[in-house]
Amino acid sequence: MKVKAYAAKSPSSPLEPYEFDRRETKADDVVIQIQFCGICHSDIHTALGDWGSFSHPCVPGHEIVGHVIAVGKKVKKFKVGEAVGVGCMVDSCGKCENCKSNEEQYCTKGAVYTYQSTEYDKKSYTKGGYSTHIVVKDKFVLKIKKGLPLDRVAPLLCAGITTYSPLKRYGVKKGSKVGVIGLGGLGHMAIKLARAMGAEVTVFSTSPEKEMDAKKLGAKNFVVTRDLKNFLPFSKKLDLIIDTASAAHDYAPYLNTLRLGGTHVLIGVPADPTQFRGGPLIQGRRNLTGTLIGGLKETQKMLDFCADKKIFADVELIKAEQINEAYKRTIKGDVKYRFVIDAKTF
Ligand code: NAP
Ligand code: ZN
Ligand code: ZN
Repeated sequence: MKVKAYAAKSPSSPLEPYEFDRRETKADDVVIQIQFCGICHSDIHTALGDWGSFSHPCVPGHEIVGHVIAVGKKVKKFKVGEAVGVGCMVDSCGKCENCKSNEEQYCTKGAVYTYQSTEYDKKSYTKGGYSTHIVVKDKFVLKIKKGLPLDRVAPLLCAGITTYSPLKRYGVKKGSKVGVIGLGGLGHMAIKLARAMGAEVTVFSTSPEKEMDAKKLGAKNFVVTRDLKNFLPFSKKLDLIIDTASAAHDYAPYLNTLRLGGTHVLIGVPADPTQFRGGPLIQGRRNLTGTLIGGLKETQKMLDFCADKKIFADVELIKAEQINEAYKRTIKGDVKYRFVIDAKTF
């Protein structure tokens, strides 16, 4: 099937209109007409070569929602017309211990990502959601409940699950004190989800003008990180930090806001490495860890949780021709709080 898309031909070129063929429908495939696709900062890191160069045209996009238009003959779970989602993965080995425990993102053979990944046939190269259609193995397609605002659901497929997963893993509940670093696409979802789980949220931001928004989104406290003095009232107060900053930063001032044994979870993947002193880890027996998206079972759970609690992303809907401008604005932190592409405009 010929599809329209937007692609970066190299890390130094802007994204431009591009056409290619999606694969023929296999027995376990679902064919999806895409309606909306969010712009994650990972798309930007990839397309701009922050994480390394690439030689195939890069069609980013892993916050995909749309409708089923055809299914392979073995597919039982999905019917034509249903609303569905696709996140960051489209395949994994299915046999390793991590796949068997529903953590396909940590597949020991390597998960196949929705774009810029080589498939298990060792020759096909994945292309993502900045396109009109996508063909995905049924196991990697998520159900979306009826009647939801699909443009605002799209960002849940990455920004939603990536923040939901560590909040659940580290047991956030009523009364937990959660810090969120960076008020962007992931950060604004982290605030909404942590609040829905009953936590008190403190936002750490480089942008003083975001304070009102942070409070409207549900944060109790707002710390402007440019001045280290602003950290002092929060010393040893927090249980958990969700770190979504997309640029390198020193972890030490944030670690000092954790109570004994508290946990700082890295989510952002900056282009540059960070140097920091280990003192704050040692002095408070604190943990510094990371997390990668979430498995399919947990992603479905998150989508159902958000549908029940009416938690959706705050989005700015754009046309395909505005993608390059949206990239620039996201890098500047000028987005409230996720750009979403209307797939009718490819
Ligand atoms: P985003 O919308 O651009 O938000 C990132 C935020 O980081 C910015 O809004 C800004 O917030 C903050 N920031 C920027 N520069 C900073 C600096 N120098 N120091 C501290 N904070 C800074 O990006 P996103 O889509 O939420 O993605 C965030 C990061 O997570 C990206 O690196 C992305 O690749 C990564 N990611 C990882 C996973 C995973 O599975 N681990 C999944 C998705 C995305 P303030 O203006 O409030 O400071
Ligand atoms: Zn993402
Ligand atoms: Zn596996």
